[in-house]
Amino acid sequence: GGHLLEVRDLHVEFRTGEGVAKVINGVSYHLDAGETLAVLGESGSGKSVTAQAIMGILDTPPAVIRSGQIRYQGRDLLSQSEEQRRQVRGTEIAMIFQDALSALNPTFPVGWQIGETLRQRAGMSRGDARQRAIELMELVKIPAAANRLGDYPHQFSGGMRQRVMIAMALALNPKVLIADEPTTALDVTVQAQIMDLLADLRRDLRMAMILITHDLGVVAGVADRIAVMYAGRIVEHADVRSLYKSPAHPYTKGLLESIPRLDFHGQQLSTIRGLPPNLMRIPSGCPFHPRCPYVQQVCVDVVPHDLVLGDGRTSACHFAQEVRDDRAR
Ligand code: SF4
Ligand code: MG
Repeated sequence: GGHLLEVRDLHVEFRTGEGVAKVINGVSYHLDAGETLAVLGESGSGKSVTAQAIMGILDTPPAVIRSGQIRYQGRDLLSQSEEQRRQVRGTEIAMIFQDALSALNPTFPVGWQIGETLRQRAGMSRGDARQRAIELMELVKIPAAANRLGDYPHQFSGGMRQRVMIAMALALNPKVLIADEPTTALDVTVQAQIMDLLADLRRDLRMAMILITHDLGVVAGVADRIAVMYAGRIVEHADVRSLYKSPAHPYTKGLLESIPRLDFHGQQLSTIRGLPPNLMRIPSGCPFHPRCPYVQQVCVDVVPHDLVLGDGRTSACHFAQEVRDDRAR
């Protein structure tokens, strides 16, 4: 059967005064019911832009979807009307962001905001919406939820505000939750609590989730599969265990080597040299070649296509097998 959600060969560019930035260059990934896909990459790799294209919230202009499909339950969302897209947003696919403060309206109590979604979109009465808002706030484990309906966003701590935004996202029972850097702005302890909450919710509600992050450290306990993005491409795609055990793309290997490890206590962390490319002038051949410790002449000359490594793993590297089998870490 088909996938719940499938991005197929998506190309997006930003047209600016300085030129055309190729921000998404042939991204394909899929999500099945109930599973969690982590999309990993540095800022500017295109992970958020892909999510915004799925949600239909790309700013146009200057963002232009050049080609590709985004199929949800077999229908291509990109060929649907704005009204049809609006129906999908929230009820089928919902999104949460890094910054809850800007996602929430500062001038209304949170209970009212959650209730408003339920009144407008689900046609609930005032009383039912209020009751459901309390249930949602309890679902995301906000203590004394019923007493906090009248509180404004600024009256919540960062972590609690993130929970309010998650409650709003869940109001219409979406089948897919896209979480874009949901814990980046929080301190480490609160990050872990929010990740635990998301893991519980996806299990209890049987939601599928796309977890967008630049932090490989947060995905291990939550994701089933990981897609690693670089310069608007997916450079490696694997189940979590294989990817951690034997990364098959030099970029992934570099990301793993820059995670603090207890067993390497005191040792200098390696980081990936250089900077991500300017998307108006993406390097020839493999876009990672200026930064890659494995680079050969073929990398400068020839764009690497996905090499299938078995078990559904792919790596867009000419030397994927050698990199995977090189255990020097
Ligand atoms: Fe490095 Fe070449 Fe592989 Fe690109 S194709 S990641 S430059 S080894
Ligand atoms: Mg982003």
